[in-house]
Amino acid sequence: MWKNHFSKLLSRSVPAETTRGNWGPGLSCRRVLGIGLVGAMVSIFALAGSILLGAEPETRAKNVILFIGDGAGYNTFLATAMYLGKFDPKTGKTQLEFEGPEWLRVACATYPLSLSSKPQKTGIQDPELVYDPAKAWDKQTGYQWLTKTATDSAAAGTAMATGQLTYNNAINWSDFDQPLSPTLVEIAKKRGKSTGVVTSVQWSHATPATLGGAKVPRRDDYETIARQMLSAGVLDVIMGAGHPAFDNNGQPRSPDQYQYKYVGGKEIWEALEAARAKPEGTYLGFRPVVTKEEFAALCSGPTPTKVVGTAAVADTLQASRSPSRMESPTVTPQGDKKETGSSSQSNPAAGQQSYGSAVGTLPSDDLTAKPFQHPRVKTVPDLPTMVAGALNVLDDNPQGFFLMVEGGAIDWANHANRPDRMIEETIDFLAAIETVLRWVEKHSSWEETLVIITADHETGLIWGPQADKVPFQPLVDHGPGRMPGLRYLSTRHSNSLVPLFARGPGAERFHRWVQGEDPVRGPYVHLTSIFHVIASAITGEHTGKEGQSATAFGLGTYLYLPVFSCEPSFPALLGLRARN
Ligand SMILES: [Zn+2]
Repeated sequence: MWKNHFSKLLSRSVPAETTRGNWGPGLSCRRVLGIGLVGAMVSIFALAGSILLGAEPETRAKNVILFIGDGAGYNTFLATAMYLGKFDPKTGKTQLEFEGPEWLRVACATYPLSLSSKPQKTGIQDPELVYDPAKAWDKQTGYQWLTKTATDSAAAGTAMATGQLTYNNAINWSDFDQPLSPTLVEIAKKRGKSTGVVTSVQWSHATPATLGGAKVPRRDDYETIARQMLSAGVLDVIMGAGHPAFDNNGQPRSPDQYQYKYVGGKEIWEALEAARAKPEGTYLGFRPVVTKEEFAALCSGPTPTKVVGTAAVADTLQASRSPSRMESPTVTPQGDKKETGSSSQSNPAAGQQSYGSAVGTLPSDDLTAKPFQHPRVKTVPDLPTMVAGALNVLDDNPQGFFLMVEGGAIDWANHANRPDRMIEETIDFLAAIETVLRWVEKHSSWEETLVIITADHETGLIWGPQADKVPFQPLVDHGPGRMPGLRYLSTRHSNSLVPLFARGPGAERFHRWVQGEDPVRGPYVHLTSIFHVIASAITGEHTGKEGQSATAFGLGTYLYLPVFSCEPSFPALLGLRARN
């Protein structure tokens, strides 16, 4: 099925009318608004704007679908667009389907509360981590600052799921060592909606864990996370990898090698398998599915009301198949990182003289590999199939649903500095987005369904092939079906802004959460705004003081775009304008 998606993506003609697709650095100076007095004035206006806006009739969304490309920064999307022939070298713009004029487009900051791996019990924002364009784009120290101040997927997922900033490692857990409530799935469930999480990595991994409503102080407590996801009563669909009995190539493991932790332990797994063996058997109300055929069968016709799908593969659907030295990223105070540098000559202590690994200079078999060169695992569904099945289960609820879809292994490919797998995983992610866009057109509408596409952080600090010498050098397009020229400058996460696209009821609320203007990427929000926009779209109520970030407001280092002035010129301000 991926082949169909791939050829479809490759062959789709470029629309005549192109919109801004500025993924490149375009380092022309853009005025950054001042701080201090201006900030204070703007805050007053923002407050007035919030009060006025509060009187507006609110739009509600029946369905909300949140796409998270884990570790997918601007240049991950751009590299994939180039590979797919969806980049116009004449204009320097990309033509991905969600870049049309109907889509809201904004940049998004991803920083956490602190780099601590455990609660500090202060709740104080580390000011050094707050996104600062001057630090991010500094030609001498930018790479160093970006790689030393990054979030992990747990804190980033918590920001999206609860609107709260927290320490790296926290799964919906506060810096005061308390569970955070409400989460988006709790809000959706309370309103009678169905809920689901779908990922290309283990379904108890940080992103599906946070967006799935689990609450634990440490992200590596997979067993507890999995048990909570199954038993908390807030999730209706759980899908991903993490099967105890199969390896990364989809081959059976010997029983003494089974890994039960990602599914909640041996007892739960055996109960799930016992339920699956019975016709219409369930565990805690969930119908378990495992085989490719069982996943495919969910895509049409009547379905069970609740499904837990564990594809017959270990860590990832495809990204970790051989040849690979990809491992599950483990958390460090600097965010996830690969423990063993698979590939790269990149410099983890970024900021020193030499940076990165250009494609082609990387050692060994796998690093000169091209996307789709290695045989795929044939016994697992792809992400679009999982998403189609999840939609078919969730859309039976007349109250609608909330669904999170994660391209989880994009991050793993970028940690491993594997451009071939990064492109593959991003293509799978784009195909999953297409599946949803076609579903909206066919079974729903843009009047009732809100779709948000973003990333939880950037991984790999991807720039052009000589970016070790030329800071922030753009990627080099080599045309469709050919790897673009790029270089990984890190094996870790970075604090770079990520792209965010939104369409549907409530999408325009993002402009109320703009907290700064980046000279390259334009106006930016923070991941926490995703919680507020979705919660408002579900409930019709405001969730906080809009026009400011929860923690940034107290820092006094922020500038706020006055929300009232965003209104009339909104499309121009939020990235639909031409920028060079
Ligand atoms: Zn990561």
